[in-house]
Amino acid sequence: MSNIAEGSCNCGHIKFQIDVVPKDVYVCHCSICRKSTGSGGIAVTVVDNDKFSWLAGQNAIKTWYKPGHDWETSFCQYCGSPLPGKNDQASTYIPVSLFDSGHENLRLKKHIFVDSKASWEELP
Ligand SMILES: [Zn+2]
Ligand SMILES: [Zn+2]
Repeated sequence: MSNIAEGSCNCGHIKFQIDVVPKDVYVCHCSICRKSTGSGGIAVTVVDNDKFSWLAGQNAIKTWYKPGHDWETSFCQYCGSPLPGKNDQASTYIPVSLFDSGHENLRLKKHIFVDSKASWEELP
């Protein structure tokens, strides 16, 4: 696997790489993403599962499912950074602010779940 882009959590315990150039950014405004970040939403990119691999720190990954929802969120047990997780059977989502390198081509593509956006947030 060639290392095209690399990322890590706030404390640096968890590291990952992808071997495709990350480009499209989706900002999710659903209530789960807003609570998991404490903010207006989370900006992510999506890659095929076989383009993603963990480099370090997998032992510190905590994954949480909201009962009744078909969605999971993962975070670092030490620093709480939101982490990459399962998007669907074939793909992985990656919070784009985790990237340390290789992310120069990221561009906003779409806001999603805008019906659930925070009342204070104004979207273009
Ligand atoms: Zn961490
Ligand atoms: Zn969401």
